[in-house]
Amino acid sequence: MTSKSAAAAAQATVYGYPRQGRNRELKKAIEGYWKGRVTAGSLRDTAAALRRTNWQQLADAGVHEVPTGDFSLYDHVLDTSVMVGAIPARHRAAVEADSLDGYFAMARGTQDVAPLEMTKWFDTNYHYLVPELGPDTVFTPDSTKQVAELKEALALGLTPRPVLVGPITYLLLAKAAPGVAADFEPLTLLDRLLPVYAEVLADLRAAGAAWVQLDEPALVQDRTPAELNATGRAYRDLGGLTDRPQLLVASYFDRLGEALPVLAKTPVEGLALDFTGPAAANLDDLAAVGGLPGKRLLAGVVNGRNVWINDFEKSLSTLGTLLGLAGRVDVSSSCSLLHVPLDAAAERDIDPQIVRWLAFARQKTAEVVTLARGLAQGTDTIAAELAANRADLASRAGSAITRDPAVRARAAAVTATDGRRSQPYAQRAAAQRAHLGLPLLPTTTIGSFPQTTELRTARADLRAGRIDEAAYERRIEAEIREVISFQEKAGIDVLVHGEPERNDMVQYFAEQLTGYLATQHGWVQSYGTRYVRPPILAGDISRPEPMTVRWTRFAQSVAGRPVKGMLTGPVTMLAWSFVRDDQLLGETARQVALALRDEVNDLEAAGTSVIQVDEPALRETLPLRAADHAGYLAWATESFRLSTSGVRPDTQIHTHMCYAEFGDVLQAIDDLDADVISLEAARSHMQVAAELAVAGYPREVGPGVYDIHSPRIPGADEAAALLRKGLEAIPGERLWVNPDCGLKTRGWTEVRASLENLVTAARTVRAEI
Ligand code: GLN
Ligand code: ZN
Repeated sequence: MTSKSAAAAAQATVYGYPRQGRNRELKKAIEGYWKGRVTAGSLRDTAAALRRTNWQQLADAGVHEVPTGDFSLYDHVLDTSVMVGAIPARHRAAVEADSLDGYFAMARGTQDVAPLEMTKWFDTNYHYLVPELGPDTVFTPDSTKQVAELKEALALGLTPRPVLVGPITYLLLAKAAPGVAADFEPLTLLDRLLPVYAEVLADLRAAGAAWVQLDEPALVQDRTPAELNATGRAYRDLGGLTDRPQLLVASYFDRLGEALPVLAKTPVEGLALDFTGPAAANLDDLAAVGGLPGKRLLAGVVNGRNVWINDFEKSLSTLGTLLGLAGRVDVSSSCSLLHVPLDAAAERDIDPQIVRWLAFARQKTAEVVTLARGLAQGTDTIAAELAANRADLASRAGSAITRDPAVRARAAAVTATDGRRSQPYAQRAAAQRAHLGLPLLPTTTIGSFPQTTELRTARADLRAGRIDEAAYERRIEAEIREVISFQEKAGIDVLVHGEPERNDMVQYFAEQLTGYLATQHGWVQSYGTRYVRPPILAGDISRPEPMTVRWTRFAQSVAGRPVKGMLTGPVTMLAWSFVRDDQLLGETARQVALALRDEVNDLEAAGTSVIQVDEPALRETLPLRAADHAGYLAWATESFRLSTSGVRPDTQIHTHMCYAEFGDVLQAIDDLDADVISLEAARSHMQVAAELAVAGYPREVGPGVYDIHSPRIPGADEAAALLRKGLEAIPGERLWVNPDCGLKTRGWTEVRASLENLVTAARTVRAEI
């Protein structure tokens, strides 16, 4: 095909769509089913109606080929485990008794059986259920769900494209089942898995699928030669089948890199590539391999995971270049629209001018369709859309919201010394010891105390106007008094106020910072029926007034021991929000850091001697490719230091992270230059402490001795044993005693007993050194 006829044939599609429905109908139906209020039949009806609405919306918008099979009652990776028959032994009876209940048992566990482990889907905030495989795994095909959803779409007269998690990504995301040696490599099961995919593909073909999309996002990460070989083999095998639909291998979230030439050489009929952000490198890479002659290219030019409108001219220029590089070019979102909210038009509280800068799933769909039309029929056919797009981009670029001269001047004036404490650690440590007068093995907690129903009700009452601000504040003060008095009685050394006033550790700050937007309906699936509404970093960030000083000061006024100030760090503020796409992440992080720096300094001025800046997202925000790590870690650590280095040497800076394995960020943790770091460690028997010691970490460490992810109360002996283990790695002068993480999800009864035991353990072990 010439590039002109390739253009004329350009079509619009997306890789997947949000599942929840306008009013989160899916969440309500599923949770209703769990509570026994909704029947299985009615849950299935709701799900089918949502799929129909989604497809109809896509088709009405002008999408030519609709994705099917991407819908899920919980998670698409779990659906893939069902499709290939990888049901863990412990769940088999439940699945055989009732496939729906068995499915939810795998997702959530039951009283007697543990669920599958859950973890983050690449660098998004979506979580999938980790497949559990072993050398004895037997795969059996079950194409029921895929075939049924395909047929539903066909019955509506649509052109469906079933979406499956590809076999390589499926295996690379899997881990050794319990009881299987941890070094078991699931990819060794590829030969057993491929025939199952072959059968599913044949079933889909028989049911009427012309194309099937196989998602292989794992290929945008650094892969070993063996993994690349396996990839080539898998797609040569599947491509060599006679009874199959045409195959489209989809990649997203980053550039395909070395996997691109491998896939290009296989007989699959199409590839989908991401051309947004750093993945735009796919364009040069594609040219370098000589394009995809005779193949279909799905060009992901509309960013599927941020909330901003597309730059049509830029996309059309990319698409124009791509026309010469493939047999057929279609236009798509860069990934499934699962990662963005449904409809920006529902946001009535956001300034209509700003709403015009936003594109959620519906708006992104319209963008894809417009671009495909422009490509196929000429840009004069989209003249009105182009003009509107140009005007909206100009309005955003020129707005006082996105360009605050004071914020920009301050960020530009930052020097290296601003990001450095005035004294080196050893001197600071001595000053802090003198100032704080803490015992050996000081005890503390990570910040939050139980978020009780009463607290949530008080917040809802305030929002609904049932109570006034003063009544709400009295309620919070009462809670703080209780939290402080409990900690003092329990004998904890460094106290916290308990964070009762915070709905969420990011949202609470986002609501108070200028430049952040909150949405009313911007729900995005985090996992299963849990949806979050990430705030939007829309403009330059500034802090109109102190955010936490009032409550910290109040807590200190009723406490006889130091109360720790509690803030969320710049990396986490970015990681759990939608970020700007019109400036480097590091610039946004620097603006947030400067706002936090003022807060840290204000806390110190208000008499706070210990200030914790949480960075639980430091590691999860690591770019997918190792080559990009250093650049990220440079701005990430710089922004943390910028927020924390304006204090006196005798003010102690803490940080906290919720993970037990951090080999790849060890150096970065050192670069934060925090005086004390607390980490998750209880389940891994203080392994972090050992790793830090081996790496020569010079500062103070609080490896958690209380696993807060379980309602179980750790005994004092157990905590003491963990502390002794910690002491093998970290000397007593530098070891802290604390739980793994905040206590907001726990109940008071467990928390009371657990913390009392923790103090007893600290006292016992103190006496031994
Ligand atoms: N300070 C926060 C809390 O205790 C930290 C939460 C977190 O690490 N995710 O809740
Ligand atoms: Zn934590």
